[in-house]
Amino acid sequence: AKENGGNTYCFYTSELKKTNEEKLYIQHSIRKALKQNEFTLHYQPIVDIETGDIVAVEALLRWYHPKRGWISPATFIPIAEETNLIQPIGDWVLRKVCEQSKVWRKKGLPHVQIGINVSIKQFLQADLVEHIEHVLRTYDLDPFCLKLEITESMAMHHIDYVLAQLQSLKNLGLQLAVDDFGTGYSSLNYLKKLPIDIIKIDRSFVQDMVKHSYDLSIVRAVIEVAHSLQMKVVAEGVETEEQLAILKREGCDRAQGYYFSKPLSAEQFEQLVQSEKGR
Ligand code: C2E
Ligand code: CA
Ligand code: CA
Ligand code: CA
Repeated sequence: AKENGGNTYCFYTSELKKTNEEKLYIQHSIRKALKQNEFTLHYQPIVDIETGDIVAVEALLRWYHPKRGWISPATFIPIAEETNLIQPIGDWVLRKVCEQSKVWRKKGLPHVQIGINVSIKQFLQADLVEHIEHVLRTYDLDPFCLKLEITESMAMHHIDYVLAQLQSLKNLGLQLAVDDFGTGYSSLNYLKKLPIDIIKIDRSFVQDMVKHSYDLSIVRAVIEVAHSLQMKVVAEGVETEEQLAILKREGCDRAQGYYFSKPLSAEQFEQLVQSEKGR
């Protein structure tokens, strides 16, 4: 930056200072948000492509900041990961979905699996498995109700540790999914090593497969390999009828995206399920 003259350099340092201040502010706000219960979860339906039934949901964090309004998880999760605040957030999410699952069961809603996103920082915690087991027992919940989503890039790091951790979670009876598949440059061959149930094809492939044969080939290959390993495939970010038709033709099992529903509050989700029952 220096060869462009002093101005650029000054600009750069002041920007850096600003982002550091910004991070500290978000950090401070997250601590407050945990104390003051500012987080909520929204639930996005995942649909069986063959039957059209809602078979699962993904829980997604929402945060309404008292001064700034809605802040995206894409903004605050990375900061939470850097500062170890992801642990208390992750714990809050886990307890919240267990509680919600129990409420839905009591209300007599059809059984749906709830998926939560687990960050690498949580995943590397040595007591993660015991912790989840403890929380499930506290809420008297069948482990099969809970699905953990870990990203493909996570699954590729610390391979031996990740494998052991996944196996323990599997032994507990949880469902395991690999998220954002296709973005992490792992080989399809690597999948056979992982004790996982579900592969989620990243949204970028679903969007591009309509125009680009390369992306369609990837989608096709992932479905074929996943099925040969008895895994189910979820397509993420399905927005159009055309995308859904292609996925159906290719034998994809499940779909998630705005075409079916955006993420909904618990109440909105209940209403949706009730209206579907009357179909
Ligand atoms: P993700 O796990 O890949 O979640 C899917 C994201 O795609 C969500 O964004 C969802 O709202 C969005 N989405 C769903 N359908 C469509 C569609 O048809 N089109 C488009 N364009 N987008 C769609 P969201 O809720 O903003 O979350 C962003 C990311 O933040 C998530 O990506 C996940 O990595 C992270 N995240 C969210 N909640 C949690 C959490 O509780 N814990 C952790 N560790 N990460 C979370
Ligand atoms: Ca996810
Ligand atoms: Ca994803
Ligand atoms: Ca993602």
